[in-house]
Amino acid sequence: MTTLPDARLYIDGKLRDAGNGATFDVISPWTGEPVGKAADATADDVNEAIAAARRAFDETDWSTNVEKRVALVKKYRELFERDRVKLGQLAIHEAGAAQGAVTRAHVDMALDGWDDYITVFDRIDWEVDYGERPAFGMVHKRLGLRESVGVVGAITPWNVPLYVNIGKVVAALLAGCTVILKPAPDTPGMGAVFGELAKEAGFPDGVMNVIFGADPALAGEMLVTDPRVDLISFTGSTGVGKRIMEQGAATLKRVFLELGGKSAKIVLDDAPNFAMDIGMSMLVFHAGQGCAVQSRLLVPKSRYEEAKAILGGAYGKFGDNWGDVDNPAHVMGPVVSKRQMERVKSYIDLGQEEGATLLAGGKIRPDKGGGYFVEPTCFVDVTNDMRIAQEEIFGPVLVVIPYEDDEDAIRIANESSYGLSGGVSGSHERAMNIARRVRTGSMSINNGMCIAGDIPFGGFKASGMGREWGVEGIEEYTDVKLLAWPVRQAEPA
Ligand code: NAD
Repeated sequence: MTTLPDARLYIDGKLRDAGNGATFDVISPWTGEPVGKAADATADDVNEAIAAARRAFDETDWSTNVEKRVALVKKYRELFERDRVKLGQLAIHEAGAAQGAVTRAHVDMALDGWDDYITVFDRIDWEVDYGERPAFGMVHKRLGLRESVGVVGAITPWNVPLYVNIGKVVAALLAGCTVILKPAPDTPGMGAVFGELAKEAGFPDGVMNVIFGADPALAGEMLVTDPRVDLISFTGSTGVGKRIMEQGAATLKRVFLELGGKSAKIVLDDAPNFAMDIGMSMLVFHAGQGCAVQSRLLVPKSRYEEAKAILGGAYGKFGDNWGDVDNPAHVMGPVVSKRQMERVKSYIDLGQEEGATLLAGGKIRPDKGGGYFVEPTCFVDVTNDMRIAQEEIFGPVLVVIPYEDDEDAIRIANESSYGLSGGVSGSHERAMNIARRVRTGSMSINNGMCIAGDIPFGGFKASGMGREWGVEGIEEYTDVKLLAWPVRQAEPA
């Protein structure tokens, strides 16, 4: 049986237990059994972390010493490289990643994103010359300075924890902020590693802090409401995102929100590889627990029966090739927790009540182990007004919706409170025209890769605000200060 190392807090340069010594169990999604222990931070611990981050920002040269912070971020990166195997183990045993998904979505993509941040860092304009302008008889020169925003509270989810933690922590550190990372209670180890390696890299005390606890809300709410925290960078559900905006209002907190999604993939009747496009839409990778997954498949009515047959074949072929922790070919494991399993199952029951037809899956699979296994599931004959088409299920459940023509496909794609990602496959011009009209943060045309560390990622509508990754992802953690001074008398008009 695997046992993960104890997850310890990292506060003001010290790796330590909770102030009162309390711990909580980390539960393996594969077995439902404890797989490790994590410190259960108290309110005092959170308070100390905030104080340390504030001190490090206000009283050290962290925010102004660019060479120092870039060198430390690079050293930090090398330590993560050395610990790749451990990171993979954490992804498997905390987040329930199947071995075939670990490198791609959990470790490689995350570390590649880190490298991209280091590369794009050079493209940031720290000073912008706004030129000269006459006013009150003088000509004034104007200069914009990009400055670090301050203390950042980074609150992250469990689904791809390394990727999201890097998305926030590395960008904030590069921007010169100090950070308090607050990972989800399901994945404390993937947070703790940021403390352990920050200590080893030699970050100044208080620049990087990591706190977590059994209570999902306590530490996060303290970060959101504390006036010493300047910005909350949050990835998680839309419900919690709204609460963060509300609670942050009292201290006029800057908030950067990456929230849920219900993205549509539109397959046109002239898609160059119609069968492949439909077949590869199965929502199985990491059991569908990705915010940007295309969980609504939009298929032309004229080819709907054909699409159903293709999907039936694809799910049949996928069969029972999932859910084995030891199988390196598997890309799908359990969902993360009992709560999540019950939530996904309740949506499967709801889909049947709403009148959709189950084409594949639909069952909980206790025979696969003591963990949280839900079958790859596909609903057809779905209409866009059904709750299974409107609400984020965050599990291996695909819904397939027929449409009449291009206008109808665009309407259906846009009739969603979300707007995070999406895709369209078809002849290039037609697909591009549709992509331009879908209200969403990114669109993949003919399966183009629209997520990478050197390009911005984020949502429209209820999928959030702000952008992670790329130059924009670092700039989120900065503010612009404007300087102006008179240089000479203005010419008379
Ligand atoms: P969640 O919203 O329940 O929790 C996210 C984080 O917020 C956790 O660390 C949790 O402990 C913390 N939290 C919970 N209540 C809080 C509160 N009141 N105040 C402050 N913090 C609080 O989400 P989850 O279940 O961990 O993750 C799944 C969700 O995340 C899905 O909706 C998914 O779409 C979304 N997600 C979005 C992206 C993206 O980039 N847009 C990426 C991954 C996941």
